[in-house]
Amino acid sequence: MRANVVELRDIAPEVRHFVFEVPEVEQLHFKPGQFVSFTETLKGRKITRPYSIVSLPDGNRFELCLNLVHQGVFTPHLFQMKPGDSIDMSAPLGFFVVRNPAKEAVFIATGTGIAPFRAMTPDYLSHPAANQLTLLFGVRHEHTIYYRDDFQALASSYPNFRFWPTLSRAESSWTGRIGHVQAHLVEAIGDRRDLDIYICGLKTMVDDVRAILKGLGFDRKQIIFEKYD
Ligand SMILES: Cc1cc2nc3c(=O)[nH]c(=O)nc-3n(C[C@H](O)[C@H](O)[C@H](O)COP(=O)(O)OP(=O)(O)OC[C@H]3O[C@@H](n4cnc5c(N)ncnc54)[C@H](O)[C@@H]3O)c2cc1C
Repeated sequence: MRANVVELRDIAPEVRHFVFEVPEVEQLHFKPGQFVSFTETLKGRKITRPYSIVSLPDGNRFELCLNLVHQGVFTPHLFQMKPGDSIDMSAPLGFFVVRNPAKEAVFIATGTGIAPFRAMTPDYLSHPAANQLTLLFGVRHEHTIYYRDDFQALASSYPNFRFWPTLSRAESSWTGRIGHVQAHLVEAIGDRRDLDIYICGLKTMVDDVRAILKGLGFDRKQIIFEKYD
């Protein structure tokens, strides 16, 4: 199918939020946390890249959060797209979704790894039997806490949701958490070893967090992860 760009806006330097629609369907079916794959022929080569959907199902529209990789093959092309442009895409896929039944959980993201959690968090919380949920989100600077207002609004509405942004290059005015997500893991988990832990971001962070969790005694079945590279 083809996806058309409807709107776009920069939400941080080199990070752009896109709204797409798929005119040939009335409803795009997917589970929060799944991704679509885009395909384009660039310099004679057919290139495909997956992108997590940052929105909840909403007719034939869906939203993405894309990080520009300057030396990358695909993202410079995506960052040239304007409203009205279109691109080939697959139907939504993927197993990085909230488990059923949803156990008490910790979501851990860095950078654009926040994308699936923007959809999974309201999905998790809207369940009548929702448990305690903590979202630990690592970025460099305060102005790159993507979707901060959305997560703060959820934290105000749901007492069982804790939103913990942490900055690795915090400005002196910042009074919140500092350092990498790894530094806050033990506090987020406490004494519990029966939680589900969902991790999304680049390989180095995901592997590091998984190793810490294994060291803390977590079973690998409780660790659900998506690596972006
Ligand atoms: C399931 C899945 C979902 C994804 N969802 C998103 C998403 O929602 N938003 C998004 O921006 N990307 C997402 N990605 C990454 C995306 O598919 C591409 O890998 C990324 O856009 C880089 O493509 P490129 O061709 O420009 O770079 P390439 O030429 O493939 O070079 C990639 C290199 O760039 C570096 N890099 C820097 N930032 C990133 C990044 N964010 N992702 C991957 N590599 C990076 C890595 O070191 C990597 O080796 C996802 C990946 C997977 C597997």
